[in-house]
Amino acid sequence: MTLICRQLLKSCYQKSQYLPTMKRIFPKFAVQTNWLTVISQNHNYDYDLLVIGGGSGGLAAAKEAAGLGAKVAVVDYVTPTPFGTTWGLGGTCVNVGCIPKKLMHQAALLGEAISDAKSFGWNVGTGFKHDWESLRNAIQAHIKSVNWVTRVELRDKNVKYINGLGRFVDQNTLQVTSKQERYNLTSQYFLIAVGGRPKYPDIKDAVAYGITSDDLFSLEKPPGKTVIIGAGYIGLECAGVLNVLGYDTTVMVRSVPLRGFDQQMAKVVTSEMASKGVKFLQKSVPKSIKKLNSGELKLEWFNNCNKQVFSDTFDTVMFALGRKALTKELNLDKVGVLVSEENKILAHNEQTNIPNIFAVGDVLHQKPELSPVAISAGRLLSRRIFGNMKETMDYQNVATTIFTPLEYGFVGLSEESASEKYGEDNIEVYHSFFKPAEYLIAKKSAENCYLKVIALRNDDQKVLGMHFIGPQAGEIIQGFSTAIKCNLTVIALVNTIGIHPTLAQEFTKIKITKRSGKNPVPASCCS
Ligand code: FAD
Ligand code: NAP
Repeated sequence: MTLICRQLLKSCYQKSQYLPTMKRIFPKFAVQTNWLTVISQNHNYDYDLLVIGGGSGGLAAAKEAAGLGAKVAVVDYVTPTPFGTTWGLGGTCVNVGCIPKKLMHQAALLGEAISDAKSFGWNVGTGFKHDWESLRNAIQAHIKSVNWVTRVELRDKNVKYINGLGRFVDQNTLQVTSKQERYNLTSQYFLIAVGGRPKYPDIKDAVAYGITSDDLFSLEKPPGKTVIIGAGYIGLECAGVLNVLGYDTTVMVRSVPLRGFDQQMAKVVTSEMASKGVKFLQKSVPKSIKKLNSGELKLEWFNNCNKQVFSDTFDTVMFALGRKALTKELNLDKVGVLVSEENKILAHNEQTNIPNIFAVGDVLHQKPELSPVAISAGRLLSRRIFGNMKETMDYQNVATTIFTPLEYGFVGLSEESASEKYGEDNIEVYHSFFKPAEYLIAKKSAENCYLKVIALRNDDQKVLGMHFIGPQAGEIIQGFSTAIKCNLTVIALVNTIGIHPTLAQEFTKIKITKRSGKNPVPASCCS
């Protein structure tokens, strides 16, 4: 009987429209890696899949697995920040990451748009000011509604949500600590999707007086004069917003801004920010932080160039030093899951060295810490475990954008890595400055609107990387990232008819190579 059912389910599964019906008829059947199996009958565990972490990756994997008939639970718990901030279900992106950040970015863009509006005939008074509390409240209200919808969605999809902190007991048992009780749950498979939390520097009172991005978007009071320590994605994005909202903003840079990114582009991003008023403390690291009687924070820092100590007072000191994976708390030693020196999980196709334990998202060693990456890896993994599918996650050419007020989006290789991989003589770099039509009558400076296409220097010139600094860079690069997946060449790019007048068409107009030495500033550009 079991065999007949398996055959029946397998053939119906291949015609996936019959799957919901099949699952209704045979609720205990599910599809598993490469063969069909009777999940709930061949083990006595509480769950088929127990997901630890209800963020981007964990939720996507849980919903997909449940949709394929698996019995799934998600265990999620947010440890409050030292500052006291906490939040609901949904993980970093929704609560303290992409979404509140993008909403603040939008607030900054609107502020700039109001300034431009006058030139377009709008009778906007001078001296308009931003209200931090209104923005904060609107963002937090939106987040609460998303937390609620997420819970409802899990219930509708038959995923059990457990608000508790998970810790392994053995490779099939997780101890769950909730506010009320502590108990064990067992599962055939586990998915570790615990993400990470911001790092603090090893200086006295950093934790007592500093905040991180986990606190910024829900700050009760306006941040005031702020120093952000760290010049990666988060440091630059948050500095960009705060500066436009009207706060005195400084970024402390230890080595170079956006280390590991295309350094020419990184310099353009920071010169744009500097031109708008963000201050940069180069080659500096924090030394001490003290609270003064006035309530202000006195920060001392060491400058590695001139070997001197400097200090200034700030209302807010924010650390954006990168994020540490939350693996220590999982008791992984007990089950033998291997981690890197930075405590990130080592996995091959998201499977750890313990075959029934998997991991996705920010917790993985040397994978992009981006929400869509975690989501896609989680979904594909569930399809492989429970859906008889084989597709694995492709971590190459993942597009990304740094949402500084003038956005920087890119996909593929930086000029440095293309040159290192293929040799300088074997790559061609096309580049151009451009002036967005939106800037024309507002007389905005376009000196930092710049794009670059890096390609192989052979007949078709396969495109290796595309970089764009300008308004809507994220939207623009998203489309081109699909083209790169389809093996875009320079020939195809320049034979594409642009949409006029748009910013994306600038990519179709590339003709000046760096090698030619010609001026990449068009006649009508860019001051
Ligand atoms: P998370 O979303 O972090 O979820 C992990 C969950 O597990 C959390 O709820 C955590 O509290 C919980 N947890 C941890 N340990 C346990 C435990 N032991 N038991 C139970 N639960 C536990 N990405 C983008 O793609 N675009 C952006 O614009 C972007 N902006 C960002 C801005 C900021 C300020 C930050 C901080 C991040 C941003 N990111 C962005 C990155 C993105 O948020 C992450 O890549 C994504 O959230 C990772 O998802 P995840 O599932 O790995 O982990
Ligand atoms: P990050 O990009 O790794 O940058 C960390 C910064 O902190 C670097 O400038 C680093 O300098 C500096 N730093 C580290 N330790 C320091 C110390 N002890 N003293 C002084 N400076 C120090 O990390 P992040 O900005 O916190 O972002 C974390 C991740 O979130 C990113 O990797 C990204 O994937 C994700 N994220 C994505 C987006 C997006 O998609 N738009 C936005 C935000 C975050 P060095 O270079 O010298 O090491």
